[in-house]
Amino acid sequence: MKLELHWQILIGMLLGAVIGVAANVTLSRRVTEITEGLPAGVDQARVSDSTDLIEIFWTDAEGEQTWVVDPTGKTPDCVLTVDDLAKDSPQAAKIYEMAPSYARLIGYWSKRFGSLFLRLLQMVSVPLIITSLATGVLGLGGASRFGKMFSTTLGYYVATSLLAILTGLLVTNIYNPGLGTELRLDVAKAQIESSSISETLMGQIENMIPKNPFAAIASSSFLSIISFTIIFCIFVLKIGGETLDRFRKLAEDGFVVMMQLTTAIIKLAPWGVFLLMIYVTATQGLAVFSALAWYMLAVVSGLALHALVTLPLLVWLIARRNPLNLLRAMMPALLTAFSSASSNATLPLTLNNIEKRAGVSNRVSSFVLPLGSTINMDGTALYEAVAVLFIGQLAFGAEFGFTDQIAIALTALLASVGAAGIPHAGLVMMAIVLQAVNLPIEYQGIILAVDRVLDMFRTSVNVWSDCCGTTVVERITASDSNSRA
Ligand code: ASP
Repeated sequence: MKLELHWQILIGMLLGAVIGVAANVTLSRRVTEITEGLPAGVDQARVSDSTDLIEIFWTDAEGEQTWVVDPTGKTPDCVLTVDDLAKDSPQAAKIYEMAPSYARLIGYWSKRFGSLFLRLLQMVSVPLIITSLATGVLGLGGASRFGKMFSTTLGYYVATSLLAILTGLLVTNIYNPGLGTELRLDVAKAQIESSSISETLMGQIENMIPKNPFAAIASSSFLSIISFTIIFCIFVLKIGGETLDRFRKLAEDGFVVMMQLTTAIIKLAPWGVFLLMIYVTATQGLAVFSALAWYMLAVVSGLALHALVTLPLLVWLIARRNPLNLLRAMMPALLTAFSSASSNATLPLTLNNIEKRAGVSNRVSSFVLPLGSTINMDGTALYEAVAVLFIGQLAFGAEFGFTDQIAIALTALLASVGAAGIPHAGLVMMAIVLQAVNLPIEYQGIILAVDRVLDMFRTSVNVWSDCCGTTVVERITASDSNSRA
């Protein structure tokens, strides 16, 4: 008997986690004296690597040099990540690369191979979005129907993102994770570049009007591709007749092929998830987790509340569907979102699962899902709210007032719209929210080390909200067309 796909993926995920944790426990410490193959001018070097601390020593013409990577920021004069090390001292990074721990090597190669699965998904995503969206819009029968679906979808996105943010504020006010913690802010300063919230949103609007649709396709700019496809199809609908028939046939045929291809790629999901889980679990240090336990608990319980109570209630009350059945049907997509931390990379699976396993019509899913994967991010919105309040509590040692919390809620909403569906996008956007509410952005360094794990949770919630959205929009727009008929 062949196991169902979601069970295979779940097993892959658990096995990956077990192997990764075993590597983490047994192979994450390595001390190496290096005498050969060193960069010019360096006589002797020593690298001491563990998941919680990396120390690099060497001697050159200027004497003894020491660099420390400490994700908790507790070591004076340390950097927080290996990326920061590469920026501050390319020499230290080069020496470190000669002798990382075996756990990190396993993690690195697992990520390389796991990314092959993600590349396959990325390979199909643009043609899949175009053919799927074109099939959906051309099948609507008239441009006016599209307007109703558009407004319902946007209404759903805004409403659920706000509900998510309120949940985030609620849990943070209950846990107050930033009060009474002993994290040292002064040393945990990350190097962060940021732009302003208005710049980012303006950029999104500009993206909706691509100067060159082919360049947008070539660079996988989802928002540009979506808007151009919709505009193009609306004009095909207006022209109608044979033109409409030909384009509809072309879109449908292309869509069938892309769906088949996606179905074939999805069979590799258990392997992809297995490798990506090894990467995450083999390379994470535990010290930083215990220091940030309350913060992580606040984020995860907020996400759980939103994903397991609020969204299912909407599915049950508005879409009149069984949320458990929907959850089961979407499991392959949700588990892939979890292990890849990217809604964009998961999109082909989400589109495939919603149609083939959940039975939602292409008319709705082809529109709600691609757009949602770029602009509807409930998990990210909730995370922004919790993280910003947490950093604020750490920085000022006090709870925030009501008006400040409203300001945080609104900027978190905008930041989640601006965030791309790729790993760590939420973290990048957070600099913008911190700036908007006048908090020091360098303090983001505090939460950097646990971001990947939280990203996995919030990405699953982002994808889950899009899935619930398809059922809600399907129900609302269906009853609308029935009542008009
Ligand atoms: N990784 C998330 C996503 O792809 C975005 C984020 O970082 O919050 O949906």
